[in-house]
Amino acid sequence: MIISQQKPLKDLLSSLKEYNKIFLVGCGECATACKSGGQPEIAKMQRELEAAGKVITGSCIPSAPCVAAKLKTELAKNIKALAQSEVVLILACGLGVASFKDNQRLNLAVLPACDTLFGAVMDAQGNFFEKCSMCAECVLDETAGICPITLCPKSLLNGPCGGVNQGKCEVDNQQDCAWVLIYRELEKNKKLESLRVIRKPKDFKKSGKPHQLIMCK
Ligand code: SF4
Ligand code: SF4
Repeated sequence: MIISQQKPLKDLLSSLKEYNKIFLVGCGECATACKSGGQPEIAKMQRELEAAGKVITGSCIPSAPCVAAKLKTELAKNIKALAQSEVVLILACGLGVASFKDNQRLNLAVLPACDTLFGAVMDAQGNFFEKCSMCAECVLDETAGICPITLCPKSLLNGPCGGVNQGKCEVDNQQDCAWVLIYRELEKNKKLESLRVIRKPKDFKKSGKPHQLIMCK
């Protein structure tokens, strides 16, 4: 799940200053779950922009705007409203913004309403936690399923730095040191020998951007 957060209204009004007719696009998946671009957020955004003198030409919430087929279905249903618009404001992550830009035919201006924060797992209470940084060389098999790239602020691959203090991280003493967590989990699973493996530096060619995975050739 991609976590996004709405930008402050004053920043949005500044980026919208040269536009009056606005179409709003939300997201029925991640942005609905993290309350940055679901139905209530679209309705609130409409109220706030109208109060600021803007005209909302229409809105839609594709189930996943980052998926071209799903986005295009919604755009086709709203083609008249889109044709009357000067700009489209996307209440979703940056993938939603990029997908709209790639899949529209009207050459409308497209603006992000949100900042994209991180990829997350959601717990049973609906809280979000970053657990993976998508490094393209997973080491979770050697670290008891706990990611040192993500949970250690220094992304250390071979055990803790010298700053660990009573199990807490020197960068944030409210957080457990990732390597203490890994040690405890390996110890519990009787896999401490995996700490003897010296992990080589990451091959940054693998994590170089932009990634692509071409499925049809
Ligand atoms: S090592 Fe960490 S950042 Fe890399 S793929 Fe595995 S979980 Fe993700
Ligand atoms: S104390 Fe642990 S989690 Fe914090 S930076 Fe050092 S090794 Fe990483």
